[in-house]
Amino acid sequence: MTNQHFDVVIIGGGPAGYGAALYGASAGLNIALVERHKLGGTCLNVGCIPAKELLETAAIQRVINHAGEFGVLAEAQGIDWSVTMDRKQGIIDKLVGGVTGLLKNRKVTIVDGTGTLSPDHRSVIVAGGTVAPGSSGEQTITGDSIILAAGSVPRTIPGFPIDSQQIVTSDEMLSIPELPKSAIVIGGGAIGVEFASMMADLGTDVTILEAAPSILINCDRDLIKVVERNFKKRGIKIRDGVMVSGQTTGPDGVTVSFGEDEQVTADTVVVSIGRRPFSETLGLANTQVAVDERGFIGADQNCRTNVAGVWAIGDVIDTAQLAHAGFMEAIVAITDILGEHPVPIAYDKLPWCIYCQPEVAFAGLTEQEAKDAGYDVIVSKHRYSGNSRAMIVGETDGLVKIVAEKQADGTGGVILGVHLVGPWVTEQLGQGYLAVNWEATASEVAQFIQPHPTISELFGESVMALTGRSLHG
Ligand code: FAD
Repeated sequence: MTNQHFDVVIIGGGPAGYGAALYGASAGLNIALVERHKLGGTCLNVGCIPAKELLETAAIQRVINHAGEFGVLAEAQGIDWSVTMDRKQGIIDKLVGGVTGLLKNRKVTIVDGTGTLSPDHRSVIVAGGTVAPGSSGEQTITGDSIILAAGSVPRTIPGFPIDSQQIVTSDEMLSIPELPKSAIVIGGGAIGVEFASMMADLGTDVTILEAAPSILINCDRDLIKVVERNFKKRGIKIRDGVMVSGQTTGPDGVTVSFGEDEQVTADTVVVSIGRRPFSETLGLANTQVAVDERGFIGADQNCRTNVAGVWAIGDVIDTAQLAHAGFMEAIVAITDILGEHPVPIAYDKLPWCIYCQPEVAFAGLTEQEAKDAGYDVIVSKHRYSGNSRAMIVGETDGLVKIVAEKQADGTGGVILGVHLVGPWVTEQLGQGYLAVNWEATASEVAQFIQPHPTISELFGESVMALTGRSLHG
């Protein structure tokens, strides 16, 4: 295939890129999708999916540990990590196969190789597979529109060389050959706490080192407290407000220095300090496309770059690094390419889900953010300890917190934020997300019935309490 022309050429086959390809093809556009590594990108191969799969293994272990409370006499005899890894890979393979099948059914041309944008901003040079740009085997494809969706890669720390067992990022951790007996997780953000939670449930002695004043710093403070308490009960050590300063590797493992001359030693160090945009592969230095000093490609609310005809979406732009944000940016870019009017994404009201134990899920403003924004705030909080279904499943650690605008009569008006921590809250955020984004009021949402007995009843009770009346709340 040389000099083929398409309506849209997309570089990068992660959720943002393949999402744009699927959505564009469903609207009748002729699309080429260039991917240098594996379709599905970070999310399917080394991100959301494998991380959640390993957390599920941890959940099974927890169930077995507590089976006796239900009268079920069961005993875990250990973890066969190779089975865990095979299961994880099997799910990845099925999902990548599914996405590939969908792309092919919609007649998307999948181009294997690294794509770089030419200075004309319409041609993409593809160096096939592992073939380096500039060598033979290159091909040129052109598009009326170009979408850049190169994603992100883990950030690393100078002096912490990454290998496959002792010092790892999320990429290596998700395929680690054996589970460490002890681990230090540097970084207590979403990815770090998920790894900490998973390893602790599977028997690893875990220490989290976090530079910020607390883990999960972007969450509402009341949610953080529940997670911190639960982690402490499960033996996870949290040291926050500390910077790491170096490491030495010896026969006992890796010793990490942190804070004021403190040290901790473990078999494995998981460096989990965030992700950086992976724009350097796109050849943008030879183009007019603006890239900031951190590597993020500049994009407006329609995901247009500063160059007409070139869009950028997903982790490579400076928005929330979430697969579902990438999907929505894909829809925005394609809608704009079609000449229609995309609905701008409300980034301040995105749904966030963190799959540690206990799970965390939220949308909209925290109590503090609402106050800082000048709202007169009313808050409703309810604990899972009184919820029938939570008692039945044996997971009563948790909290529902609704942040609303206070009305003149003292009751809650527009719902500004919904914050959940507890069992299966990642599956319950949906109605909270809708309430926040619809700018619904407490009295409107309180009219809806929550099925009984469910954990989501607590959301209904919390909203109802804002109206000044309640059933059980
Ligand atoms: P990526 O998924 O990074 O894909 C970019 C693709 O572009 C890659 O396949 C890359 O090979 C390709 N590429 C790059 N340059 C070129 C080039 N020049 N030519 C051709 N191809 C190129 N998000 C959630 O929403 N929920 C979660 O639960 C969640 N959990 C996560 C857990 C972990 C451990 C990690 C690491 C991430 C997690 N994320 C989660 C984040 C999520 O994975 C990313 O936000 C998402 O994958 C970003 O999608 P993307 O398409 O922008 O980029």
